[in-house]
Amino acid sequence: MSANPLSTALYSLRQAAELAVVDPKVVELLSVPKRTMEFTFPVRMDNGEVKIFTAYRVHWCDALGGFKDGTRFTENLTLDECKALALWMTIKHGVGGIPAGGGKGGVIVDPGKLSEWELERLSRNYMRHLPMKGAWVDVPGADIGTSEKTQGWMLDEYESIVGFHSPAAINDKPTAVSGTLGTDEATGLGVYYVFEQAVKDFGLKNGCSVVVQGFGKVGSVLARYLSENGYKVIATGDIYGAIQSEDGIDCLELDRYVSNTGSVVDFPGTKAISNQEMLEMEVDVLIPAAVQSVITVENASRIKAKLVIEAANGPVTPDAEEILQDKDIPVIPDVAANVGGAIVCHFERIQGLTDEYWDLERVREQLQNWITRAYTKMVSTAREKDISMRMAAWVNALQKIEASVKKRGWV
Ligand code: NAD
Repeated sequence: MSANPLSTALYSLRQAAELAVVDPKVVELLSVPKRTMEFTFPVRMDNGEVKIFTAYRVHWCDALGGFKDGTRFTENLTLDECKALALWMTIKHGVGGIPAGGGKGGVIVDPGKLSEWELERLSRNYMRHLPMKGAWVDVPGADIGTSEKTQGWMLDEYESIVGFHSPAAINDKPTAVSGTLGTDEATGLGVYYVFEQAVKDFGLKNGCSVVVQGFGKVGSVLARYLSENGYKVIATGDIYGAIQSEDGIDCLELDRYVSNTGSVVDFPGTKAISNQEMLEMEVDVLIPAAVQSVITVENASRIKAKLVIEAANGPVTPDAEEILQDKDIPVIPDVAANVGGAIVCHFERIQGLTDEYWDLERVREQLQNWITRAYTKMVSTAREKDISMRMAAWVNALQKIEASVKKRGWV
C-alpha cells in the first residue's frame, strides 16, 4: 500500500464498485467503518509505576460474518492505519470466501521495550478493556508486535472474564491452548498453491524458474515448497543482499543456513547480486515476498518475468502495474495470493467452535481447496470482464458483500 493506505484502499473500492455495478448506497456503507474504538487502559510496570496506554479497534463491515483479524503492538500505530487494514481485511475475507468481517486494532507501544511480565500484563489488560469481543463478535489475531504468546495470554484473560472455555474467541494462539496446526506456514504455502495453479493457467512449465524476493516467514516457506516440488529458484534475497544460481538454489538447505547466519548472503554455491538486479532478471515467475512498493514506475519497464505473484502486501505500485499490463505481464494480486493466513485463521475458529482439532494434512488440504477456489474465481471474472486480476478479486468480494447487505435489508 502507498503512503496513505486508507485512500488507496478507498480508491480501489470505488474503481471496483464501478466495474461490478454495485449499488451506490452499498459503496457508501463500505466507505466508512461500522465503528471505531479508541480506548485507554492502565498497566502496572515492573518499577511499580502505572502507565496509561492508548489502543484502537476498528470494525469495518460485518455483512459476511463476525469481525476478525490482527492486533498490532507498535510504537507508531494510528487509527487511520487500523481503518485501512480493517477495510482491506473486509475485502480479503470476501475474496477468500471467508465468512468474516474486517477488523484491526492494537496498542501504541514498543513491545521491545517491555519486560516479559509487562508484555503479559499489557496483553491481558488490552483484552480486559477491549469493548466488544467473543467468538461471534470479534476475534483478534496476531500481527506486527504480537505473537502466539500474547494471543495465549489474551485467550486466558478472555476465558477468565466470561468464566468458561471459549477457544474460538482468539486466533493465532498456541496449539497447546486449542490453536491450529499450520499457522506458521499458512501464508507461504497458500502462495505456493496459487503459484501451482497459475503455472498451469498461464502456460508455464512444471519446474519453471522463479525469483523470490524476501526470505522471511512468507518467502522462506514458499521457497522451500518451490524447491521441494522441483521448481528452480534462481535467485532470492533479504534486506542484506541477494543471491543467484542458474542451476537453482536448494532452499531447504538455504533455510537451515539462514537459521544459523540470519541472512541468505554468502550461501555457498551462489553468486551475490543486488536486490534490484534480482527483480530485473530473466525468469518465468517473479514473487516479491518482502515489503511494499518494490516494483515502481522506476523499474517496471525493466521487469522481464512472464508472471508476477504478489506474496507481500502491495509490492507493485498501481502505476507500475499499468506498465506491466502494457508489457503483457499478468500480476496476481496480494489480496488473493496471500490470503492463506486469513483462511487458516478461519480454520482455527472453526476448530475452536467445534472443539474438534484437525491434523496438519487436513489443514493443508483444506487450505489448497479454499485458496485455489478463490484464485480460480478471480481468474474467471478477470477473463470474463477483461479486467485486471486485482480488480476481479475486488469485484468478486464486493458482489458477495452487496448480496448479503441487500438480503439483510441494510440498504
Ligand atoms: P518477515 O519480516 O518475516 O520477512 C521479510 C523478508 O523481507 C526478510 O527476509 C527481510 O530481510 C526482507 N526484506 C525486508 N526489507 C527488505 C528490502 N527493503 N529489500 C529486500 N528485502 C527486504 O515478513 P513476512 O511475514 O515474511 O512478510 C512479508 C510480506 O508478506 C509483508 O509485506 C507482509 O505484510 C506480507 N504478509 C505476511 C503475512 C504473514 O502471514 N506473515 C500474511 C499476509 C501478508
